[in-house]
Amino acid sequence: MDFTGKLAVVTGVASGIGRAVALELAAAGATVIAADRDLDGAKRTAELATGAIEPHFLDVTDPAAVLALREDVVARHGAPNVLVNAAGWDRIAPFLDGDEEFWHALVEINYLGQVRMTKAMLEPMLADGGRIVNLASDAGRVGSSGESVYAGAKGGVIAFTKSVAREVARHGITVNCVCPGPTDTPLFAAQPEKIRLALVKAIPLRRLATPEEVAAAVTFFASDRAAFVTGQVLSVSGGLTMAG
Ligand code: NAD
Repeated sequence: MDFTGKLAVVTGVASGIGRAVALELAAAGATVIAADRDLDGAKRTAELATGAIEPHFLDVTDPAAVLALREDVVARHGAPNVLVNAAGWDRIAPFLDGDEEFWHALVEINYLGQVRMTKAMLEPMLADGGRIVNLASDAGRVGSSGESVYAGAKGGVIAFTKSVAREVARHGITVNCVCPGPTDTPLFAAQPEKIRLALVKAIPLRRLATPEEVAAAVTFFASDRAAFVTGQVLSVSGGLTMAG
């Protein structure tokens, strides 16, 4: 896939899937605006790149910061061609142990963060079209115990993706989402060992995804090859989820 001359904004680039997406897009010729609340991690991603990656500090829960990033990017580079919303966060806990503060954090990062970034970057994209790819989760398709509110937020991402896809199709903008299953990233490593082992056992292909395997699906949706694909949900989960 060739992204020469394309401008891509990617969140959650300091590690895991977002880092793999940023590296793949940059290697394929894109200029990547790499945003994360972990600036050191984003800088490390830029150091690993074979192409152009510009690291930025961004907390996707901060509406003013999201708009400031948009203004800065558009002023210096023009409208983005691609937005990938990969920033996310989770902590496994029984639903009944959760409280308002925990629920708000999950929804702010995993759902409203993507909504906020999408609105900000869509506006300049309207003139020339573009691609938006959201990271949801298999938890949002089939549920996941210990992740009730996270799964709700990711189910929201899926419904949001389809709805925005309908609204902006006439502008030549596609919006799709990728649902990773258990993937070998710091987010997954932070979950209790018992849960991690049980999940691997349940995966038909009997292993975790690599971040690069998830990135391959993301970059397909972000590419010209997916020009006629919108509002779709693709699981990259070794067969864990075989949802229609
Ligand atoms: P990760 O923890 O490796 O990376 C997530 C990145 O998001 C980190 O760099 C973190 O600093 C950043 N981030 C978190 N909160 C942020 C905020 N408020 N503002 C800006 N950046 C923020 O996780 P990952 O596994 O690479 O996850 C990437 C996406 O894939 C997430 O949306 C996650 O929910 C989803 N996902 C992951 C898995 C998995 O098993 N790893 C499974 C399903 C879905």
